[in-house]
Amino acid sequence: AKQGGRARFSFYQADMDAALAERLEMERELAEAIRAGQLVLHYQPVMDARKGTVGSVEALVRWQHPTRGLLYPGTFIPVAEDSGQIRELGAWTLEAACQQLARWKSMGRHPGSVAVNLSASHFRDSRLVEQLGDLIRAYGVGKGELTIELTESTLMSDSESSMQTIQALRGLGLALAVDDFGTGYSSLAYLKLLRPQKLKVDRSFVRDLPDDPDDCVLVRAVLGLAEALDIEVVAEGVETEAQRDFLLAARCHQQQGYLFSKPIPAEDLSGRLSAWP
Ligand code: C2E
Ligand code: CA
Ligand code: CA
Ligand code: CA
Repeated sequence: AKQGGRARFSFYQADMDAALAERLEMERELAEAIRAGQLVLHYQPVMDARKGTVGSVEALVRWQHPTRGLLYPGTFIPVAEDSGQIRELGAWTLEAACQQLARWKSMGRHPGSVAVNLSASHFRDSRLVEQLGDLIRAYGVGKGELTIELTESTLMSDSESSMQTIQALRGLGLALAVDDFGTGYSSLAYLKLLRPQKLKVDRSFVRDLPDDPDDCVLVRAVLGLAEALDIEVVAEGVETEAQRDFLLAARCHQQQGYLFSKPIPAEDLSGRLSAWP
């Protein structure tokens, strides 16, 4: 039995070594990927579900890996967060999104607002505000044309300096959306303080609509709260007509999900954007 235990131990050890090696390899490749232009943004429309038009878009990063194909953020964002590469990745994402916004406008198209996801460590980076100011000037980003999506946990940790950063971002004309709303440690007080433009109701609350009575009550409650505070609500992960119709009846018009479109390359979305100005 002792022998077997030892054998098992070395097996796990080997496994861990392999996992670590893979992680280090990915870190190395990711540094290269940013430089070599292997990252791309796909865009998912947030619809006005009443009219069937695109209200805004969300930029979602992908990695066109030379041998492994298209990688989704779930596979490499955690690595970038651990290694500290997330700031560099975030800076790339912000610039690529601003560039695309300018490109769409020059084509006479307007996506409403382009939303970019920001990680917690990048949000706390002291250079962020200056970086964003530079981008806004360089690409002529207008007021409300760029939205920053932050999760509740990002906003809640160290809330005093979060507050300052948020004020600075607002001063630059950026909009703020609270992402994955309802999954983190939510306090109603911070909503009143932060006054984000948008709440994005997490997909987990939308999934079982309209069958799960608890989720129906929760979603209606969030909509009521947001309305009282004059905050817009986006429902994430809308996959079925039944979900869409429940949300429409509850007066949640801004909807995002596979029912309307998956995240797609910018070129594929251009034709669906409204004319500008
Ligand atoms: P998120 O911000 O909550 O983005 C929504 C995710 O849900 C996206 O996954 C999107 O493809 C997926 N989704 C949209 N509609 C539906 C639907 O109807 N059904 C289902 N099942 N899924 C849907 P994706 O692109 O894999 O991104 C995952 C997460 O990675 C994002 O979650 C976001 O937290 C993070 N992420 C993406 N791009 C960036 C980025 O540029 N920077 C940072 N820091 N994080 C990013
Ligand atoms: Ca998001
Ligand atoms: Ca989300
Ligand atoms: Ca999420």
